[in-house]
Amino acid sequence: MQIFTTRRELQQFALGAKRSGKSIALVPTMGFLHEGHTSLMDIARGKADIVIVSIFVNPKQFAPTEDFDRYPRDFEGDLAKCEAHKVDVVFAPEISEMYDVNSSTWVEETVLAKPLCGASRPTFYRGVTTVVAKLFLLAQPDYAVFGLKDAQQCFVIQRMVRDLDFPVEIIPAPLVRDADGLALSSRNRYLSADERRRALSIHQSLLGAKARIISEKTFAPAISEAVEKVSAAGGKVDYIEILDCDTMAAPDENSKRVILAAAAFFGTTRLIDNEIFEL
Ligand code: AMP
Repeated sequence: MQIFTTRRELQQFALGAKRSGKSIALVPTMGFLHEGHTSLMDIARGKADIVIVSIFVNPKQFAPTEDFDRYPRDFEGDLAKCEAHKVDVVFAPEISEMYDVNSSTWVEETVLAKPLCGASRPTFYRGVTTVVAKLFLLAQPDYAVFGLKDAQQCFVIQRMVRDLDFPVEIIPAPLVRDADGLALSSRNRYLSADERRRALSIHQSLLGAKARIISEKTFAPAISEAVEKVSAAGGKVDYIEILDCDTMAAPDENSKRVILAAAAFFGTTRLIDNEIFEL
């Protein structure tokens, strides 16, 4: 496994690999890797000759009040996991290497990125699309794997790729959960044992609301009940909403696939989860 820390090394390597006819799959991450991330690596491994994992805590997607400084890190542990999942290249640049000091260009998707996390974190998605666009130009991937744990992010990237003609296929990967249903997240590390137990209410209330929506064919009562359940468990609900996956607007009579998405704070930790289903 090779480790690159400069943009130039990665781009030279990727262009060389493409010239010799090899396909590349990219898995962008912020590190502190868990089985959600390694499931993406396994999908990438099944798709392409070369698997590249990027590990970069991207400051451009954190607001000043957010957890950039304390975001969990474990570079040695991450390398061992990449090695175990047969990754060929890890790209782990410093911030000063990734962004020139006077960098002033943003890539911004302006519709799908607006609701849900985009409403509560207004500068988040433009940070994500900007860094992912750069990673695509550096790693030259034929495939890029994104987890449906961050489903809105995945839809925003798919739209960016379509609108800007990036020659890459986005592969959405299933959300991986712990045995008790909690969506795996690097941020779960922040939770006390008690908060973690109470946070199970997010997934449980989404499952309850999904069952009610499917059987009753109305949204509002099911969503109110879900908000009440998470609040009763001590969570501070940021949002629980149902949207059409294609438009990220309220579902209408033409909607097929919908996302029931939740974000809630337990203590100071903001967790997200979702269920995607057909109406
Ligand atoms: P992150 O390191 O949190 O930025 O995530 C990097 C990639 O891993 C993103 O595509 C995430 O959607 C994906 N990911 C994170 N957690 C999970 C999970 N529990 N299941 C599936 N994919 C995940």
